[in-house]
This record gives sequence, structure tokens and C-alpha cells, in this order.
Amino acid sequence: MITIISTLVMVQITIACVTVYLHRGQAHKGLTFNLVLEHCIRFWLWLTTGMVTQQWVAIHRKHHRFDDAEGDPHSPHVFGIWTVFFKGALLYTEAAKDKQMIRQYGVGTPDDWIEHNLYTKYNFLGIFLMLIVDLYLFQLWGFVVWGIQMIWIPLWAAGVVNGFGHWWGYRNKDTQDFSRNLTPWAIWIGGEELHNNHHAEPGNPKLSRRWFEFDIGWFYIKILEKLNLAQIRQ
Ligand SMILES: [Zn+2]
Ligand SMILES: [Zn+2]
Repeated sequence: MITIISTLVMVQITIACVTVYLHRGQAHKGLTFNLVLEHCIRFWLWLTTGMVTQQWVAIHRKHHRFDDAEGDPHSPHVFGIWTVFFKGALLYTEAAKDKQMIRQYGVGTPDDWIEHNLYTKYNFLGIFLMLIVDLYLFQLWGFVVWGIQMIWIPLWAAGVVNGFGHWWGYRNKDTQDFSRNLTPWAIWIGGEELHNNHHAEPGNPKLSRRWFEFDIGWFYIKILEKLNLAQIRQ
């Protein structure tokens, strides 16, 4: 039981870091973070995802730039819904190979010593360390816990949000793209379920718009703001 709860807590922390830090903070500059907290988030993302901030940000900004048209790195209307759902992580890896694009679209991301010499240079070392930690904490179950952690972002972010978030659900705003809100209560994928709301106003770190919608990512941001750990950009 404790293993299941610990796993759920860890994957929810990871998804919170992705939506609040990588997406709303880094890619869209909707908020800034306390320096110590930012380093903790970057360390956690390195341990649990192995994703490079500049790559993530660049690919995501390119997605907004081309918005379901040719050039969008992971649109289901370009690649097909099942390709994005099952192979979303591969599309990401493919897009990340374009170094010129990563530099062009990835401006303003962390550019310090630890980014270059650890997080980017040895991006897969983090997930290997995580496996060791999981095996220490959960013994043989550690392999299962680690497997769930590794599949979490490729499945829910690259697969469900990038795929179904442009395919299935309701729309509040008639945007140029095909973005959709998957569920009004956005608690499982950190608030990213409200994807049509996001495409209508990418710079707004709050993703809920209507009275019945709830964005858990915004709830986290308000707590961080109260604790003086984050600042929302107006
Ligand atoms: Zn989108
Ligand atoms: Zn976005």
C-alpha cells in the first residue's frame, strides 16, 4: 500500500513540475520561481524524466507556432492520433535532433554550469540514479515503481495531452487549432487537461476559465505564491 501511495505521489510531483515549471514557467514565461525551488525542480525532473529543459521548451513553442499544421512536431492532425498517442515520445526525440531549431526556439532557458555539465550532458544519468533509489526504497518492487515513473510523462503528456488534447473533448474558445479540453476537472495531468483554454491564451498560467472548471496546477501556483516561492507575471 505504501508503495502504491509513494508512486502516485512521486508521479504527481513530476507532472506538477512539468506543467508548472517547464510549461507555464519556462516555455510561456507565465511565472518565475524562487531560485532554490527552481533548482529542486530541475533536479527532480532530471531524476524522473531525463528531459532537457531547452529541448522541451523549444519543441513545445514550435507546437504553438505551427498549431496543428505542417511543422507542428506532434499534432495528431499531421501524424494521426494513434501515432501521437503511442509514439509521442518518439516524435519528441525526433524533433529534438534539430539542434538549430532547439537553439532558436529554446531561448531563455537555464544556461548555467549544472545545466551544461550535468543535466544536458548526462541527461540519462538522472533516471539511472532514480532506479537505484527506487530499488533501495522498495526492493524488487523498485523496478515496477521506476517503470511507472518512466512511462508517466510519455503516456500522459506526450500521448494523452499532445494527442487527445487536440482530438477529443469540448472547446470554450474557437481557436485556429484543434485543441480541446479533455475534462473540466483537471487534476490528473496537472491541469493540462484544459488544453483548449491554454491554446486560447498561452501566456496565462491559469488554465481554468469557467466556474465549473478546476486547474490543479493553478492551485499549486497560488500556494507557491502565498509562500513567496513563485511570482506570477501579469
Ligand atoms: Zn497543444
Ligand atoms: Zn503551451
